[in-house]
Amino acid sequence: STMPPLLSAIANAGRHGVLVKSAVVMEQLGHVDQVAFDKTGTLTEGSPAVSEVEAAAGPDLPTRAQVLAWAAAVEHLSEHPLARAIVDAAGSPAPAEDFSSVPGRGVEGVVEGVRTAVVSPSAVTAILPASLGMTVRRLEAAGRTVVIVLRDGAAVGAIGLTDRVRHDAPAAVQSLAELTAAPPVLLTGDNQAAATQLAAVVGIADVRAGLLPEDKVHAIAAAQVAGHRVLAVGDGVNDAPALATAHAGVAMGGGGSDLTLDAADAVVVRDNLAAIPAAVRLSRRARRVVL
Ligand code: ADP
Ligand code: MG
Repeated sequence: STMPPLLSAIANAGRHGVLVKSAVVMEQLGHVDQVAFDKTGTLTEGSPAVSEVEAAAGPDLPTRAQVLAWAAAVEHLSEHPLARAIVDAAGSPAPAEDFSSVPGRGVEGVVEGVRTAVVSPSAVTAILPASLGMTVRRLEAAGRTVVIVLRDGAAVGAIGLTDRVRHDAPAAVQSLAELTAAPPVLLTGDNQAAATQLAAVVGIADVRAGLLPEDKVHAIAAAQVAGHRVLAVGDGVNDAPALATAHAGVAMGGGGSDLTLDAADAVVVRDNLAAIPAAVRLSRRARRVVL
């Protein structure tokens, strides 16, 4: 064709299922030497399901159904994949008022007049009753993502969730590892045990768990200061700053938030992870044609 090589690479990448936003990005993709993956919604399908609901032990404490219903009332107003799972498990939640969310942390609102929060266990470690702390460790050891339900600042229960690994994640991670000099890393807000189990399945040895969105940015910036050209792959609102920081940021288009799609340099459509190594190869081939 008479099209310039980088433009025909963009067209080809589009056929593979990744929309590359500019010729500069198309060029940049071929230069990356390390890949940083988000976990939930990126290497996993991003449609988790509730697997356990546990109430804190003791007198006057709630039933499991109450714990789930309170959590769902708040999560009703969140777009996080964990929120959808909790709402689906609860059926029809009572609406919460005064909703707010902290990316990478959790959500809160007022349910039936009581301030109710659903948060990461790491945000409330200090106030977990011993029995609930043991429940959290048991669920995490089983590879679950865990959230804690708080009423009026007291932990009243824990919810375990599981998500399936994307079927094409191991192959895509391996292809990208072969195309890059430095080993891939997993950057996740989820707990260490769940992250390590997922990482073993997809073939990533370097796991950084319990990260807030700004921690993901720092991890990528540190690699870049050390001389790496990092390709970041993510899906959630919590990944937008990391995608913007990396040399190349790729968003999963399927469940991705608008903010994340804006922050990304390229977007994977049809949830096809294999499109990412394909785009790197197309970039390198185009460069060889130019030189
Ligand atoms: P990841 O990096 O794996 O995509 P996130 O940064 O989105 O994960 O979330 C990290 C952790 O923060 C979750 O595992 C959960 O504990 C907590 N969290 C985030 N959003 C919510 C929410 N809507 N409800 C409850 N917990 C949440
Ligand atoms: Mg995610």
